[in-house]
Amino acid sequence: MILRLEDIYKYVNITLNGAILFSSDIAVDGHEDNSIVRIVTHIHSDHIVGLRSSIRKLRYIAGTPQTLDMLIALGYRIPLPKRLELDYEQKIELNEKIVKLVKAEHIPGAAQVYVEFPDGVRVGYTSDFKNPGSGTPVLKDLDILVIEATYGRPDWTRSFKGEVEYLFVDIVKYLLSQGPVIIHAYHGKLQEAMRILRVAGITAPFIASRQTYRIVKALEKHGYRFGEVIYDKSREAQEVMKSNWYVYFTHMNSYSTSTSRHKVSKIILTGWEFDQPYRRINNHTWIVALSDHADFEQLLQYVEEAKPKILVTDASRAGAPEIFAKEVTRRLGIPSIPLPLKKPLDLSITQYSIIDA
Ligand SMILES: [Zn+2]
Repeated sequence: MILRLEDIYKYVNITLNGAILFSSDIAVDGHEDNSIVRIVTHIHSDHIVGLRSSIRKLRYIAGTPQTLDMLIALGYRIPLPKRLELDYEQKIELNEKIVKLVKAEHIPGAAQVYVEFPDGVRVGYTSDFKNPGSGTPVLKDLDILVIEATYGRPDWTRSFKGEVEYLFVDIVKYLLSQGPVIIHAYHGKLQEAMRILRVAGITAPFIASRQTYRIVKALEKHGYRFGEVIYDKSREAQEVMKSNWYVYFTHMNSYSTSTSRHKVSKIILTGWEFDQPYRRINNHTWIVALSDHADFEQLLQYVEEAKPKILVTDASRAGAPEIFAKEVTRRLGIPSIPLPLKKPLDLSITQYSIIDA
């Protein structure tokens, strides 16, 4: 079978609002009116855009049980007949296509998507991931692979990525000896931070803001363990806060530079750090480079192991999809394009010629 680059639109497209479309009937991580199903790979805000429209208009909302329960924790109401729970590796048939979710190491419940078309063409979407091959299984034998390209620039590589977890624990231990610690991060990473700290033996009380707490409770139903976590508006939390010995977990969006009257330290967990694993940005705030994304090196490693016939980089979200597509073509010889395209595909360029499938 010969698959040409211009054929990919029959199988895969990405809309400006971030929907990864497998033909038009399967929409992943974005809304599309004509689809029958919306698959949610994970609960990060750039992957649940338009979800309320999807819930209203589409037949099914699909995701792992953890993801669907975390969506409820975030306030989404998914009518039971529309709720399509898919465990990892469980195959279902949708409009003559075989669909399954595959684990992704990113945040709890995160998934990659695999779709097999009736003519045998196989496509996959990594969504957000890290640690290909170990934490994230690599989707192989694909005709078209869609990959995230958040850290798609060659200099966006973290040489220290193996040590960040230990350093994070050391910093929290040190700061806790001085007073309370507030941790700011995105959903999922907050819970991962809790897990890392508990495993490292930190016994200080954990206090969580409303949504962070609700997500903890949703994940506990699926066997995740974080030790005791207290809701910040409870009377118990008010008592604990008087002790000045606790770790408070809250969303990145609630970060402010203001100081409180107590000696409170703040830690921001972000992947956008490449030179050093942590740094102090002012008297009371630290940045720690705990990332839940592949860096450039790991993105390239994924593609090298997957060896898709065509690579599509997701250009509807933040990152460096154009640069990453060029780097893959140059380094690995795999035809790669970012979608959605900023300008129409020039089919006269040799790298876009016929590929043997
Ligand atoms: Zn994400």
